[in-house]
Amino acid sequence: MSVPSDIAAARAAVLDRIAKAAGVSGRAPESITLTAVSKLQPDDRVEAMLATGQRIFGENRVQEAEGRWTERRAKFADLSLRLIGPLQTNKAADAVAFFDVIESLDRPKLAAALADAAQKQGRSPEILIQVNTGEEEQKAGIAPLEADAFIKAARETYGLPVSGLMCIPPVDEEPAMHFALLAKIAARNGLPILSMGMSDDFETAIRFGATHVRVGSALFGARN
Ligand SMILES: *Cc1c(COP(=O)(O)O)cnc(C)c1O
Repeated sequence: MSVPSDIAAARAAVLDRIAKAAGVSGRAPESITLTAVSKLQPDDRVEAMLATGQRIFGENRVQEAEGRWTERRAKFADLSLRLIGPLQTNKAADAVAFFDVIESLDRPKLAAALADAAQKQGRSPEILIQVNTGEEEQKAGIAPLEADAFIKAARETYGLPVSGLMCIPPVDEEPAMHFALLAKIAARNGLPILSMGMSDDFETAIRFGATHVRVGSALFGARN
């Protein structure tokens, strides 16, 4: 099979699995948004994905995303680009200028930089706060016990448009308890958006209330 039909078939299969998982939980399939994670994927696969009508993409790095999407953005006015990787404070202004959604806010210094950039640029992406549900040292995200206070500060002290939470469970653990924890923190803070679930666990995430699933390899194939 050529790459384009592979990609179209892969997307149809993922959308079907999303709909089935939604159905099992008594949820409407439209209540779950598919973010196609295009980081490190070759151009022909990205073009094939655009040809299927997919318009919501996730990228891990600001510069890589700018390189891939700046020209395509002029062609596809309805593109929505989501930063899902860790963000350095010195890239905050670039991220504010470029992305529609930033999913990886996780510390006060970055909140201050995003707020400053948003004010200077007169625009602000929608913001999600990343929670390090597994409290892994090497992983980005605010610790669960600090999440409530940080969410409040991001909204009230920094005035950021925080709409929800994001997490990446530890690779070697059952993800369900991490999704449940994220959903609980979101609910008690009145946050409607839950970005959780990747290729290997998005059905479980949907069962625990995911509104956005971030799927890479199941859509595009393995990354380089
Ligand atoms: C790479 C990545 C994904 C996609 O992972 P797959 O397992 O390929 O679906 C999702 N979320 C984040 C934050 C990522 O870095």
